Amino acid sequence: MKLIDKVGADDLSQSPVNPVFEPFQGTVIPVAQPYLPDRKRLDAYIDGIYQRRWLTNNGPLVQLLTERLQAFLGVRNLLLVSNGTLALQIAYRALNIHQSVDGQPAEAVTTPFSFAATSSTLVWEGIKPVYADIDPSSWCLKPEHIAQQITPQTRAIVPVHVFGNICEVEKIAAIAAEHHLKVIYDGAHAFGVGYKGGSALSWGDATTLSFHATKIFHCIEGGAIIFKNQEDLERAKHLINFGITGPDVVEAVGINAKMNEFSAAMGLSLLDEYMINIEGREKIWQRYYRELSDQVIRQKRMADISNNYAYYPVVFKNTAEMLEVQKKLLKINISSRRYFYPSLDTLEFYNASEPKIASQDVASRILCLPVFYGLSDNIVSKIIDIVNGK
Ligand SMILES: *Cc1c(COP(=O)(O)O)cnc(C)c1O
Repeated sequence: MKLIDKVGADDLSQSPVNPVFEPFQGTVIPVAQPYLPDRKRLDAYIDGIYQRRWLTNNGPLVQLLTERLQAFLGVRNLLLVSNGTLALQIAYRALNIHQSVDGQPAEAVTTPFSFAATSSTLVWEGIKPVYADIDPSSWCLKPEHIAQQITPQTRAIVPVHVFGNICEVEKIAAIAAEHHLKVIYDGAHAFGVGYKGGSALSWGDATTLSFHATKIFHCIEGGAIIFKNQEDLERAKHLINFGITGPDVVEAVGINAKMNEFSAAMGLSLLDEYMINIEGREKIWQRYYRELSDQVIRQKRMADISNNYAYYPVVFKNTAEMLEVQKKLLKINISSRRYFYPSLDTLEFYNASEPKIASQDVASRILCLPVFYGLSDNIVSKIIDIVNGK
């Protein structure tokens, strides 16, 4: 591993990074802005890629990022992939939940309050999403509602750790054990979140992550799957590489979901600067937390979890009030985002059987406020004033 030591950028840990700036002057301030690492740091990794000409197929930077992420997150059996959407699809395949049951399509109980990919990946793999409703205060799947949706065709539960809030993982594990179901957490929002002294990402048979540019930790595009069992990890390693298991052996139907070396170089550079990024976000998050009026509803976060300061969602009294705030912000060139909206059970192509009231209600009134490293205090003050109705 000498080669890797040489391209490692630890020696650059003191170099200056992204100065605070007033972003996009004259244009619209985004809800999320990708963090970019120091150029010298990134270049040091890229120089190594140029020397080796090993660009993809489990290269040395992908191997190094795998090791560093496992140590950083406190998890085992982590597999890097090309994005968070394929991470979900590979997890379903590796855990074999896509196979039909008695000639009927397999079902997975999931949440309508998520990004489209949580449901689209199920449908793409021939699995029928069956929606359970969320808890109206935590915005994560309510375990009691999950149990009600289980049928003889159910193979899995696919919950989401919404905005880095952690689901009721013990209760979900008990339901899964009772009904012999797999649990795949969409952990795209929960990078780095701890629970009761361990990683929140170790729960379930698998947890998936997204390293898309707008996420707190990113590889431009990228993702990962954290498996409970090593056999599932080994199966997934082949699935992401066309099902190839040896020089002349194709053992199963696979796909291409490999991470490349340039993406890993970005990830390694960002990991070196992770605390700078998070401390910048924390300051903004804490100001919203302290200074926003009690009139706006916040997410009720699970006890014993840590915060990654990824998002700041607020829920207003009604849709009209939310739209009014969004309009006022846009008037001074600040964007906000209706996220998650629409509630996925309202989309006809997902064939929901009945409306999920709590999910539709939160989705109709929610707005995510800008949180990113480099967002100025001045802008944050303006956002707070508008949300508070000043
Ligand atoms: C971002 C995101 C995804 C998709 O990840 P990509 O890397 O963009 O494919 C899936 N689920 C949730 C909850 C997300 O936020």
